[in-house]
Amino acid sequence: MPATVVDDAQVGDRADFDSETESVCPFCGVGCKVSLKVKDGKVKYVEGINGPANEGRLCVKGRFGFDYIHHPHRLTKPLIRRDDAPAKGLNVDPGNLMTHFREASWEEAMDFAAKGLVKLRDADPKSVAGFGSAKCTNEEAYLFQKFIRQGFKHNNVDHCTRLCHASSVSALIENVGSGAVTATFNEIVNADVAIIIGANPIENHPVAATYFKQFTKRGGKLIVMDPRGVGMRRFATEMLQFRPGADVSMLNAIMNVIVEEELYDSQYIHRWTENWEAEKEHLRAFTPEAMSEICGIEPEQLRRVARIFASAKAGMIFWGMGVSQHIHGTDNSRCLISLALMTGNVGKPGAGLHPLRGQNNVQGASDAGLIPMFLPDYQSVMEDDIRKSFTDVWGGGDFSNEKGLTVTEIVDQVYAGNIKGMYIQGENPAMSDPDAEHAREAFAKLDLMVVQDIFLTETANFADVILPASALYEKNGTVSNTNRQVQRVRPAVAPPGEAREDWKITVELAQRIGLPWAYGDVSEVFAEMKLNMKSLDNITWERLETETITYPSLHETDPGQAIVFGDGFPRPEGRAKVTPASVIPPDEAPDAEYPMIMTTGRQLEHWHTGSMTRRSLVLDAVEPEANCSLHPRTLRALGVEPGEMVRLTTRRGSIEIMARADRAVAEDMVFVPFAYVEAAANILTNPAIDPYGKIPEFKFSAVRVEKAQGRIAAE
Ligand code: SF4
Repeated sequence: MPATVVDDAQVGDRADFDSETESVCPFCGVGCKVSLKVKDGKVKYVEGINGPANEGRLCVKGRFGFDYIHHPHRLTKPLIRRDDAPAKGLNVDPGNLMTHFREASWEEAMDFAAKGLVKLRDADPKSVAGFGSAKCTNEEAYLFQKFIRQGFKHNNVDHCTRLCHASSVSALIENVGSGAVTATFNEIVNADVAIIIGANPIENHPVAATYFKQFTKRGGKLIVMDPRGVGMRRFATEMLQFRPGADVSMLNAIMNVIVEEELYDSQYIHRWTENWEAEKEHLRAFTPEAMSEICGIEPEQLRRVARIFASAKAGMIFWGMGVSQHIHGTDNSRCLISLALMTGNVGKPGAGLHPLRGQNNVQGASDAGLIPMFLPDYQSVMEDDIRKSFTDVWGGGDFSNEKGLTVTEIVDQVYAGNIKGMYIQGENPAMSDPDAEHAREAFAKLDLMVVQDIFLTETANFADVILPASALYEKNGTVSNTNRQVQRVRPAVAPPGEAREDWKITVELAQRIGLPWAYGDVSEVFAEMKLNMKSLDNITWERLETETITYPSLHETDPGQAIVFGDGFPRPEGRAKVTPASVIPPDEAPDAEYPMIMTTGRQLEHWHTGSMTRRSLVLDAVEPEANCSLHPRTLRALGVEPGEMVRLTTRRGSIEIMARADRAVAEDMVFVPFAYVEAAANILTNPAIDPYGKIPEFKFSAVRVEKAQGRIAAE
């Protein structure tokens, strides 16, 4: 269906609206600026406007995916689990909640939540942990981590960055001294070569993909590396469809060529890096011939790619979760960082490192300290002076100097009975955690689960008290996109019923557990953040009224720095580090019982666990059914027609799902989107984690694929 047909049918008379409000798209990390046209208290349609990341462009999610905020499933009143509710499980019908919950006043629900949290804290402060949200604002993320740290004196607070780019951030902090991108994606306009690895921007960052396509149209050389033949391959000078999990062998082979042919930038390496000699020696063993056996790419192509990238005047490297979601995700990112550094491709126009961030505000939530080892601006919780600088501002006592537990570690401690209470704001770990059945069993054991969300998510099925919150288009605050660009979001419509903005809920809950919090407006939270976040220097609430500002901003009229580290790195002596990486196989190899490889990801029309996009009329109409993709030859070998059902089984569990034919998927692979509760990919995924970033290996599970005995999909 052409977009304009949907557009006209949905919108009608475009001039007929009551008000318009500027905000930011709530889906991916590109951070497209939007204008929301409101009629009769509802968003009628959305237009892209001239933000620095999108210049008026929008993808299908941004343009058509807004109506979830008006869905009848929205939570409009606080809910408390009924005394006579069935046992906790994934068993609540979102259209008929009252079988498990009863409506409560805000007073009763907040009292219930606060008293429950205090009771657990009095017995053992570590019995309570929190998951904040990368879909909420910077101010809400900041308040959430403060709530756990100040309220419970420990650092057991995390969010979904652990499941997407934690390993990238870990490698970036280790080697360049900062967890954010070194250049905006728009800098590709100044590049003459770019690598996109383990990312599928046409579906996951569609507006960024338009800039990448334009780059190739004007003659830029694009090198795409992915185990799947992702859409950007159509624009690529070189496509390297390597074996899943073989990133390090392929990248080390490319760097081996750069070393052996002396294509590296000696001057840059000498001036700005450390550990080069060790890396150079390490790389000598990784010849293209030897690595070709592992990664499946011909030695000649590895050589060609090395020469193209190393001989460019300016090159960028973009990566996605195909790089980060492995037990060797940190090593994968280390290789990309080394490749950029040895070719002098950091800190100048058209050059840089750019992990494409997933959620709309995962960059901002991480910057705001919603991670267990770092306070805001990635300042270590282990440093006494740093903690003091925060507690001085917070007016409270000290908290633990131990790194806290990560998302999957918290779930394991819940399962073990050591964590008995959780406060979960806008996250859906019952869908997003690896080995999801394990997470669901854990949540059923909690004495108290406080969930703050806009829908009865799969996670909220297990809640004891549910606090109805606001969607992004109903709230005030700031968000930070993948480009380090800080932008204002503003309420276009009021939250439905009695739902409230998340920051207001957290503030009241904090007051009820005895914290001395007093904020009259969300801008006061932003002002407090600035006291201990140098990244926000020169960025003021007043400036954000009219500007998007890229941090760092060097003075009060500087729109911000698109490129950083041209004059050194925030590391000892201003030098970046090259860290050698060795080849580590995936955690579980295919075998006779589980002979194929399963990988997971997103689709264009759906976002993450589907709680928003599956409640969007247009998006759900375009992609209504859980599906997986297999190569046509694989389907024929299985005796399965496209559209029929297959059964996927891993060591964790089984799902049945409709199969599609897709030549982009290798013959020994199956690709499963993770947005569908009825065939949840994460029932199957492997919870083994990267030792540095603690990110699970979502991208590689040994799987058995069989024709399902059930219905034929078309029936
Ligand atoms: Fe929204 Fe991302 Fe699409 Fe932009 S590219 S409209 S931010 S989903």
